[in-house]
Amino acid sequence: MLDGKTCLVTGGSRGIGRAIAAELGRHGANVAVNYRSSAAAAEAVAETIAESGGDAVAVRADVADYEQVESMRETVRDRFGGLDVLINNAGVTADKKFENMTRDDWDRVVDVNLGGTFNCTHCFFEDIRSADDGRLINISSVVGQQGNYGQANYATTKSGLFGFTRTLALELAESGSTANCVAPGFVDTGMLEVVPGRVKEKILRRIPLGRFATPEDVAGLVRFVASDDAGYMTGQVLGVNGGMEW
Ligand code: NAP
Repeated sequence: MLDGKTCLVTGGSRGIGRAIAAELGRHGANVAVNYRSSAAAAEAVAETIAESGGDAVAVRADVADYEQVESMRETVRDRFGGLDVLINNAGVTADKKFENMTRDDWDRVVDVNLGGTFNCTHCFFEDIRSADDGRLINISSVVGQQGNYGQANYATTKSGLFGFTRTLALELAESGSTANCVAPGFVDTGMLEVVPGRVKEKILRRIPLGRFATPEDVAGLVRFVASDDAGYMTGQVLGVNGGMEW
């Protein structure tokens, strides 16, 4: 289904990114698995894809650093010749009540979640525009739609992706390439592990389907958006959140 497509998953070493990379690889894509610090985990993802018959490479780059992203682009071009699908997935949190949030807490989250999205999209823009059915897929969050106590920095970055995606959809449209946002609900990954148990219970009560998402729940939707079947869909925010309202 994705045979011959080259995809880059930022933050592909763990959590949702790992599941997305594996899913795309299983469906025939060449996959660049980006990571910042989890080298062994990223290599393991690439090996799993290779074992399932795909071609994959782990590439280190801090997405918040423009020069590192430029050098990642060279690695991807050398290995695969170009890029068809960029998935801006790398993200971080630094949760605090707003009154306790420091400017550093704010900047750390903005630098990765929005700065990293700028850097990767800017460096790979020409690849996506010139690709046959290119795809830009930004991983947002239901928190960008609802806000969330203690996450003013994170929620701002995740709703910022809506305007960014919509604008990129307009700027890419002439080329036939698309830009969409996938907005997961609460997903069982390292990011959720740091949330206190009593807060998790409260969140669970707000999810109609009565469970947290698995990374695979998100990966299946991303695979669809990356595929030719989604060619007429652009500028959208696609929720995968167990029925949470927003
Ligand atoms: P996670 O388990 O904490 O994994 C985060 C990933 O991002 C790791 O692979 C990490 O790589 C990478 N990363 C972090 N900073 C990076 C940087 N500066 N440069 C490159 N890679 C970086 O998080 P997750 O839950 O899978 O979240 C993935 C995305 O989904 C995020 O954008 C998050 O906001 C979004 N999301 C998550 C949830 C949730 O409930 N979990 C819900 C909605 C949306 P290293 O380990 O190599 O550092």
